[in-house]
Amino acid sequence: MTIQEIKAKSVLLKHGKIDSWFVSRYGMNLYRGCTHNCVYCDGRSERYRVEGVFGENVAPKTNAVEILRKELKPIGRRTKLKPSFIILGGGVGDSYQPAEAKYQLTRRALALLCEYKWPVHILTKSTLVERDIDLIKRINQQNRAIVSFSFSSTNDAVSAVFEPHVPSPSERLRTLAAFKKEGIACGMFLLPVIPFITDTLEMIAEALRKARDSGVDFVVFGGMTLKTGRQKDYFCKVLNEKYPALVARYGEIYNENEWGQAADAYYSSINSIFNQTAKTLKLPRRMPPVLYRDILWENDLVVVILEQIDYFLRLEGKRSSFGYAAYAISKLQTPLSAMKNRLREIKGVGEATERIILEILETKGSTYYNSLQ
Ligand code: SF4
Repeated sequence: MTIQEIKAKSVLLKHGKIDSWFVSRYGMNLYRGCTHNCVYCDGRSERYRVEGVFGENVAPKTNAVEILRKELKPIGRRTKLKPSFIILGGGVGDSYQPAEAKYQLTRRALALLCEYKWPVHILTKSTLVERDIDLIKRINQQNRAIVSFSFSSTNDAVSAVFEPHVPSPSERLRTLAAFKKEGIACGMFLLPVIPFITDTLEMIAEALRKARDSGVDFVVFGGMTLKTGRQKDYFCKVLNEKYPALVARYGEIYNENEWGQAADAYYSSINSIFNQTAKTLKLPRRMPPVLYRDILWENDLVVVILEQIDYFLRLEGKRSSFGYAAYAISKLQTPLSAMKNRLREIKGVGEATERIILEILETKGSTYYNSLQ
């Protein structure tokens, strides 16, 4: 591992709209690069412009917390930040990668978020997060903290090949259970599953059973992307060494594609396995509203619930206009409660969507959403 300290000009990443996977409007990368060096990591792609040898070099942003303090400061801001979880991790670097043991940037950022009373969602593959359980508990008591762990499977042997520098899935699950014991909500991001290796019914079912047994509050699932260039070249090198018989099958599902997407039919088939298995085990397939309904601005709450409904319907192979409506609502500055009589003027909002929106505004929930569980 080579460390090169750098100074950041800005830290807080502001998304254009609320993200319904993480229920977050804001994120941050306290380190540039990630020495966890997962073989499939798309942070390796040229698209993200991470300098140096990905997986070996890491650049801690040593002034990150001071910059973050200025960015979060509520006094003197022209535009107020909207309430949502602030996500730590989930970008192109793990906030609890080995350099964190020395630099403690994540711990200091958490202390600041606690001071400013922000809800926090952490996504990591590292058990080092347990070091900060005191702060995370305090944040959870003030508003809410969620700790999610990402997995490509719960098989320790497969993980050792594709996630060489992170604690094994068994250790991650043990840490997850420790957070649950302290009353912290936890998620499993089964993302990405690796084609023809961890995307089988047996592997997905095993991961979801272990998630349920550890007490997770929700699971987020997704397939793998393989962007042409550094990411694809590195992944294919390892695949060739460890699973040479699979190389041709990858050629069948991954074409040259700007976003590295696999064929739609492939994603449909793994989504269907996930959907059926999660429903059988009664595991929420997205972060449930009970974890965020008291936190979000009313328009954001509607956007997240509509997007999740859209996702559940698409998992069943159905089409819906809920996603369009959610997108149109995400562009509004006016609170929906101030335009209850004009909801149908919003693009994509018909009679059924109007009913759902009114119910969310009144009760912070949706019976239709619940019926899809
Ligand atoms: S932990 Fe996440 S960011 Fe780091 S290498 Fe693995 S996939 Fe990439």
